[in-house]
Amino acid sequence: MTISKILEQKKTLLSFEVFPPKQQANFENTVNAAKELCNLNPDFISVTYGAGGTTRENTVEIASKILSFGTPALAHLTCVGNTIDEAKNIISQMKKNKIENVLALRGDIPQGIPNPLSNELDHANVLAKILKDEGFCVGGACYPEGHPESHNRQEDIDNLKYKIDAGVDFLTTQMFFDNNMLYSYLYQIQSKGIHVPVLAGIMPITNSNQVSKMVKLSSAYIPAKLLSICDRFSENPEAMRQAGIAYATDQIIDLISNGVRGIHIYTMNKPSVAQEIYKNVDKIISAINS
Ligand code: FAD
Repeated sequence: MTISKILEQKKTLLSFEVFPPKQQANFENTVNAAKELCNLNPDFISVTYGAGGTTRENTVEIASKILSFGTPALAHLTCVGNTIDEAKNIISQMKKNKIENVLALRGDIPQGIPNPLSNELDHANVLAKILKDEGFCVGGACYPEGHPESHNRQEDIDNLKYKIDAGVDFLTTQMFFDNNMLYSYLYQIQSKGIHVPVLAGIMPITNSNQVSKMVKLSSAYIPAKLLSICDRFSENPEAMRQAGIAYATDQIIDLISNGVRGIHIYTMNKPSVAQEIYKNVDKIISAINS
């Protein structure tokens, strides 16, 4: 089913994300993690593409396994590393595998690789247009705190309009740890005429080392409350995990209460974290959708 259709039927979606393994030997582990996530009946599961050095070839294959487990899949695709013809090849594999939803991304620019982008496929909006023309339900990324390469949030929102004009059906946010960042962003994009549904990306912090890694990756602002949790429990992994899950749960409940259209959990191939968060919010989500 397309994500647009699910958004028509439900007030709030719950989705998870998996990434393909870095080594082919771990392919089955990733499929098993995806299967466990499917058992929680999320509205969809997304599969990243080439992010963090993961193997790109497996994105379509894992998305197709997720479909075979009865869960809608969202396959990511990036401009980085692909010409238009190469992207079209992957798109035809997606069609063969009955994948209906694609997240169109520029991709992270890998360090030390000269010219990772072809001139013809240099921004997500170009890829989004190709995917729309092929009949896919297309998502795009957005950045409540601004994309790190933009001079300011306003410039980034102006650039976001290119994706909307290309026909993007929904947006998924970069992770953020302060909900007020999202609320002010939603206000700003709506006042610029952007009204597609926005799914909030939530990253549960389950070990204190993750924080510095996540800040480096996303430049996200870390509120004092989360920093205190990391400082206090960094030496106690079990306590840190429990506190991190509680922090993410608190964020999610506030977002749902404020009418956010979807919660996308960066589950990092850890079904147990998703299971615990799911247990904390399943009745709340059912109540909103009943
Ligand atoms: P774009 O929309 O192209 O934006 C990149 C920069 O260019 C921004 O500063 C923007 O303001 C500007 N810009 C946009 N359009 C134009 C234009 N037409 N002209 C001029 N400037 C423009 N990376 C991966 O490698 N694999 C993944 O699977 C992956 N999944 C992700 C999922 C989500 C939900 C998010 C939020 C990010 C994901 N990323 C992934 C990371 C993403 O690829 C990077 O953040 C990347 O730097 C930007 O991608 P984008 O699609 O937002 O690019």
